[in-house]
Amino acid sequence: MIDRFNIAADILKLDESIRQRLQRPEKQIVVNFSIVLDNGKEQNFEGYRIIHNTALGPSKGGIRYDTAVNLEEVKALAAWMTWKSAVTGIPFGGAKGGIICDPSTHSKRELEKITRAYTKSLSDIFGPQKDVPAPDMGTGPDEMGWLMDEFSQLHGRIVHGVVTGKHLHAGGSLGRVEATGKGVSIITLLALEKLKLRPAGSTVAVQGFGNVGIHSALFLYEKGLKVLAVSDVSEALYNPDGINIPELILYYNLNNKSIKGYPNSVTIKHEELLLLEVDVLIPAAKEDVITRQNAHEVKAKIIVEGANGPVSSDADAILEANNVLVIPDILANAGGVTVSYFEWLQNTLVEKWGVNQVNRQLENILEKSFETVFRTVKKYNVSPRIASYILALQKVAETQSVKEVALTAENYKQN
Ligand code: NAD
Repeated sequence: MIDRFNIAADILKLDESIRQRLQRPEKQIVVNFSIVLDNGKEQNFEGYRIIHNTALGPSKGGIRYDTAVNLEEVKALAAWMTWKSAVTGIPFGGAKGGIICDPSTHSKRELEKITRAYTKSLSDIFGPQKDVPAPDMGTGPDEMGWLMDEFSQLHGRIVHGVVTGKHLHAGGSLGRVEATGKGVSIITLLALEKLKLRPAGSTVAVQGFGNVGIHSALFLYEKGLKVLAVSDVSEALYNPDGINIPELILYYNLNNKSIKGYPNSVTIKHEELLLLEVDVLIPAAKEDVITRQNAHEVKAKIIVEGANGPVSSDADAILEANNVLVIPDILANAGGVTVSYFEWLQNTLVEKWGVNQVNRQLENILEKSFETVFRTVKKYNVSPRIASYILALQKVAETQSVKEVALTAENYKQN
């Protein structure tokens, strides 16, 4: 994140003080709390909430429950959220949170206690106009519902807008579950158009068959693309005639959420999927899967980053030299935060939108963002990734500078 930030900041000749300001979070909070487990013993937990920047609006970002959660990672993820909202023009800043724990070892009741205790520790930080959490790895609509309820109890009124990613009946939005994959598919179609490729018959490989991978594969399959390969942590599947994605989803749901053993395909090695001869490669599993080591072997014409950070910064130049069009995460997977914004908006306005309204507005925002990024590509003669960072940095830095000038003037008056 910092490598790409610095390239964009150099191009913009960003002032050193604002550069330093934007490289560091506005606030970093470490919390420590205990709960009584089902067996009667007490367990202590450490959690974080990092507010990277609020120049463009209330900070927004997920909460992760994972044993690998650490302060440095949460800081980077919080900054990513700032750039993602800025590039799509959503009036939010960036934040991220996490608790060091293994959710699979806790009962529902324990997870509820953990979530409520974490919320209590941060009840002054959260708020619909301050900091708005969302689900991330290890958390979902249940945790968001508990967070909203705890916050509402502490503030003596129902505050739906304090969190997004809630269950539908608890103030969630239609279209949120599939929003990131839908966004990835919208961006993929726009990228194909850039290369004058027709969707029907174009080929795609998708790494990861979770929330992002499933919906990306499904929407593209419905648009007539041939999904030649998909993988999850258990297996990588390949069919040169295209995999029937609705049938695979059915199999996955009946097979304990795993694609292992799906019959109408052959298995390939996980790493082979990334190097297949396809029009589009969608890495939608995890970070750093395309690196200096394998980037020169990538044969896809387009990479659409469904996951956060799947291409490492040392692979950027190799892919660019090989004419691979890379659509960066901060644009490609911004469908999720966009529909989170719609959820927050519906909560704030006490409205309920239909799924067509959600999808139409999502498409509008992503199409506009895509066009703006490609105009910036031309203007600065840079890759779409650096163009996205330039756009985001420009917006945040300008607003931040105005705020700081105002603050300085205020101090001057007071003195
Ligand atoms: P998920 O947990 O639902 O799915 C992850 C998938 O990746 C699973 O199918 C898992 O088996 C697979 N996987 C893990 N390691 C793998 C490997 N080595 N090879 C192949 N497959 C592997 O997660 P998700 O919500 O789909 O998120 C995926 C990525 O997208 C993450 O980087 C996440 O931060 C990012 N993202 C998610 C959202 C969202 O709304 N869910 C939004 C923006 C970005």
